[in-house]
Amino acid sequence: MEEDEATPKRLPPWVELEYSQMLTLAGPTSTVLFTHLSEGSGDALRATLSASLEQKGVATLEVHTAPILSTLQDKGVPLESVCLLDPKAEKELSPEDAQTFGYFLFGGILGDDPPRDRTSELRALGFPSRHLGSVQMTTDTALGVTKKVVHDKVPLDQIPYVDFPTIRFNAKESVEMPFRYIADNGQPILPPGMRELLHEDLNKSFEF
Ligand code: SAM
Repeated sequence: MEEDEATPKRLPPWVELEYSQMLTLAGPTSTVLFTHLSEGSGDALRATLSASLEQKGVATLEVHTAPILSTLQDKGVPLESVCLLDPKAEKELSPEDAQTFGYFLFGGILGDDPPRDRTSELRALGFPSRHLGSVQMTTDTALGVTKKVVHDKVPLDQIPYVDFPTIRFNAKESVEMPFRYIADNGQPILPPGMRELLHEDLNKSFEF
């Protein structure tokens, strides 16, 4: 859903890290489909994720230039079997939803603070939807939480979270992230390399 250039040489680094983490969190029995990418972005995504794909235990990758609706149509997947993860959905995602849905759909977008409700573009297409609580998560976190609920059967309220964590780089530098993350020992689970990227970006913002 981000603006897409026809022939980008590489994707924005945060996209690479989050999308790679999505393959890891989805795990080996799943397929992660990216839809509506330009040829250039699709190639860049495949090239970027090729190292992740060589690791054991990651999901299968599918890259489609077609938008979501025609991709599903080509595969013969009915709209009713696709669950849009939408912070504004009426119902919460539950372990029983595994029986209803075979596909879970996420907006591949960078969150905003305050949230701009860009998931509404997918909502308008008419998918059934579920929320994961009222706090916005990063897309990879939303996928990880969905997997825990529908595959591992852990109810939403039994997953440990950390909201709006402050990532400290040293005594003087830190950044607050406006998202909910899954917690591990009280620390947010970030994609490998994201901490370093955030630190680099922080330093860049002070360069004139
Ligand atoms: N601020 C947002 C918006 O514009 O809708 C949320 C963007 S979030 C970074 C990217 C995607 O993760 C969303 O499109 C949605 O599919 C999923 N997501 C994030 N938090 C969620 C929540 N609390 N409940 C359901 N889905 C969520």
